[in-house]
Amino acid sequence: MTQATSTAVESILGSSPLSPAQHDELVAQHSANNYAPLPVVIRQGEGCWVEDVSGKRYLDMLSAYSALNFGHSHPEILEVFVEQAKRLTLTSRAFQNDQFGPFCKEITAFCGQDLVLPMNTGAEAVETALKTARKWGYQVKGVAQDQAEIIVVDGNFHGRTVTIVGFSRDEQFKDGFGPFTPGFKMIPYGDATALKKAITPSTVGFLVEPIQGEGGIVVPPDGYLRACLNICHENKVLFIADEIQTGLGRTGKAFACDHEGVKPDMLILGKALGGGAMPVSAVLASREILGVFKPGDHGSTFGGNPLGCAVARMALLLLGRDKLAERAAETGGAFIERLGSIRSDKIKEVRGKGLLIGVEFHTSAGPAKAFAKQLKEEGILCKDTVEQVLRFAPPLTIEQKDLDWAFERIVKVIS
Ligand SMILES: *Cc1c(COP(=O)(O)O)cnc(C)c1O
Repeated sequence: MTQATSTAVESILGSSPLSPAQHDELVAQHSANNYAPLPVVIRQGEGCWVEDVSGKRYLDMLSAYSALNFGHSHPEILEVFVEQAKRLTLTSRAFQNDQFGPFCKEITAFCGQDLVLPMNTGAEAVETALKTARKWGYQVKGVAQDQAEIIVVDGNFHGRTVTIVGFSRDEQFKDGFGPFTPGFKMIPYGDATALKKAITPSTVGFLVEPIQGEGGIVVPPDGYLRACLNICHENKVLFIADEIQTGLGRTGKAFACDHEGVKPDMLILGKALGGGAMPVSAVLASREILGVFKPGDHGSTFGGNPLGCAVARMALLLLGRDKLAERAAETGGAFIERLGSIRSDKIKEVRGKGLLIGVEFHTSAGPAKAFAKQLKEEGILCKDTVEQVLRFAPPLTIEQKDLDWAFERIVKVIS
């Protein structure tokens, strides 16, 4: 490395002399104001723990909304990331790269699907699934041109594109962003009969989260997913599972649909697929479904890039080798029980599966965000989802002693 380069690198990665207040000031002055983060400036992370710019340590119980299922700087993710970055980071799909083929083989085997279409962010993968369902509807099901309908559920969260927010219930997500894409119909979540009633000959897909994450860790009634799958199949409608947050071990199974033995027609993955290091998302389906694409129909400059593929291959390898879903089932199940045993008139309900856990507070206890702020003072990072619900979703690699440590502080804050 030349002197000039190392100085340039030093200027970016060298120890930051800025105080937390100065960081806030920079962000306030130069960033769009579309987030309201907790007041903590993180500079380093290892496993389930992060450190802020003043050296204070926190237990990360948000895991970047489940993108960090393997924790921070997992040694093998880091190694594959650094080694692949030194070799090759991007080719675009104009050429093949030597990580793409193995990635396709391994992810389709892991998911039990024929084909994969790689993208980067979750919203892009959801968009891809919507486009796929429509094209399949016209080409395979025989729906009349531009008549395709997709059924979604109330309380959904599938990302932030114009099309996706257009079928959200959340008024803030939509306010000022219209006009929206037509062709979507909303039904209540957890109600299979409503799905049956909503289907018409033009329905091509049913898009659903097997557990609603951003919607407040909402677990549907037992048998709901299975019933919906059956209804979809009776009506030649694609059952599309958005497992961007619930997939890859989070809920105690490889996929949340596995709890009901449901294999979706289309599976959408993101977040943890990139090992917390890269944005990697994907749509998986049978050849009949994803086979509708021909060259030029759809694409992404970074989708299928060798760095993302290498990291995703490691993420899948770790899930299997280290039995992380089983681990999440055990540690998460016990933690849900423990949280449920807290006697407090502030708590309305504790729910979730595996390490995707929601604690709902009574409105009289105040908004969940206040608890997140207090927990931050105690050294725990977590985040409210909807107004009254606090989410606990630590890395799947979290150790029992860290959960014990967290439990003590949670009890302290809630009592
Ligand atoms: C996070 C999330 C998305 C959107 O992913 P981005 O990478 O933020 O675009 C979509 N669906 C679900 C269920 C999610 O949790």
